[in-house]
Amino acid sequence: MTNIVLFGKPGAGKGTQAEFLKTRYNLTHISTGDVFRYNLKNETALGKEAKEYMDRGDLVPDELTIKMLQDEVEKHPDTNGFLFDGFPRTIAQAEALDRFLESKGWKVNATIALEADDEVLVQRLLERGKTSGRKDDQDENLIRNRYVEYNEKTAPLMDYYQNQYKFYAVNGIGSIAEITERLSLVIDKIN
Ligand code: AMP
Repeated sequence: MTNIVLFGKPGAGKGTQAEFLKTRYNLTHISTGDVFRYNLKNETALGKEAKEYMDRGDLVPDELTIKMLQDEVEKHPDTNGFLFDGFPRTIAQAEALDRFLESKGWKVNATIALEADDEVLVQRLLERGKTSGRKDDQDENLIRNRYVEYNEKTAPLMDYYQNQYKFYAVNGIGSIAEITERLSLVIDKIN
């Protein structure tokens, strides 16, 4: 069982890299952003609750997010491990994840950050917004608000995982294949 948290700011390439890594390491990819968007599109109760936060580029409250993540994990009892993408994003989420995995005899094995400069990422997201249809990628104010949320609530997780000796960082600038190799070097080391 190998559980990896892919960490990084919006636009850092977590989702893109997860697509390659999940095949290479036979892991279950859970993107909380994707699950929220699916619920929004299908107008589920969860989607309706999450909508106002997502529309503003704010984080969805912890209680809702943690419950949703746990439900997703429970759907894959026989997995080799998870690739968490976009979760945890607050200390409360990280603590809940540790407790939840521990209750199953599992743990977070590594947190790997994809590092890139804010201005590069803002441009990347605006580009992505032209084709993704994502409203939160089309409005620069919403994008910048997501960075404010990141700096306030998510950045402290670096210390949280560093204190557990589980934090790794790779350069998130380069070709997709180069970055996959950088991430794989870390995963091969911890395995
Ligand atoms: P993402 O696709 O990861 O950029 O997420 C899109 C949006 O979904 C975020 O701006 C938040 O509103 C919401 N979201 C995704 N993951 C989380 C999370 N772990 N905690 C709170 N909100 C989240």
